[in-house]
Amino acid sequence: MKSAITHHKTMYIFFGAPGAGKGTLAQLCVEKLGWKQLSTGELCRYHSLHHTEIGKQIDFLIKSGKLVSDSLITSMVEDWLLRNSKGNQEIILDGFPRTAEQAQMLDELLKKDAFSSFKLVIVSMAVPNAVVLQRLTHRWVCSNPACQAIYSLPNEGQTIPSNALRCPHCSKELIRRQDDQNMAVIEERLKTFNHHAQALMNYYKSTGCTFYELDATKPVIEVFEQLMAKLKER
Ligand code: ADP
Ligand code: AMP
Repeated sequence: MKSAITHHKTMYIFFGAPGAGKGTLAQLCVEKLGWKQLSTGELCRYHSLHHTEIGKQIDFLIKSGKLVSDSLITSMVEDWLLRNSKGNQEIILDGFPRTAEQAQMLDELLKKDAFSSFKLVIVSMAVPNAVVLQRLTHRWVCSNPACQAIYSLPNEGQTIPSNALRCPHCSKELIRRQDDQNMAVIEERLKTFNHHAQALMNYYKSTGCTFYELDATKPVIEVFEQLMAKLKER
């Protein structure tokens, strides 16, 4: 029989359109607060790059801006959580769940003993489409898997030989994500986000989850401060 559950860890779901700044805010929380981040997009790109069995199944989907199946992505999340959620650190899910079905699957996962100490908080990052579009077309990321720092550079950066752009943190090459370089793929990702967003938020509102609404159009540090203010209010 399950004993009465004490929730003592928080799992933050960073929710927002591609380019809203989820990864950037997550990296700040990792650096300043010692939280742990799972970016499901990074996990997908890792499998694709290393041609794993999963990578072969999802390569086309991530390159064309379509979603990986709910069951496969949830099993990847479960696998990551089993390996990474044993300590006392708070967890950030960046890019998951993306559909109401994934949210239901996550709720089922959290009923398992291994994860029953987690309480969910939704961190919703609102940004208009035009801003997101501008951010995606200026995003550069560090190619070092251990770093993955995210930057914003003017478009002219694209005319600089790529190996001339080095990460200030680890000095590895900065690259542009393949799915940020094709306008049709960007549009597909935004369309997919808009298609699922309302049902996903309705699901979480129906479960009575805690919501933090952030104005993610503000500069990065201000978005972080908004999050800190919400944490203090709790
Ligand atoms: P997401 O993880 O939501 O797809 P990222 O964190 O990768 O978004 O950010 C997308 C781009 O926008 C990056 O180039 C990043 O440097 C930039 N960016 C992120 N947050 C902000 C912000 N608050 N203001 C301006 N630019 C931002
Ligand atoms: P992101 O890095 O979050 O922009 O995600 C990049 C790509 O990874 C997406 O366009 C999808 O193809 C895939 N992906 C990441 N997270 C999910 C998810 N929760 N569900 C389905 N596909 C995902």
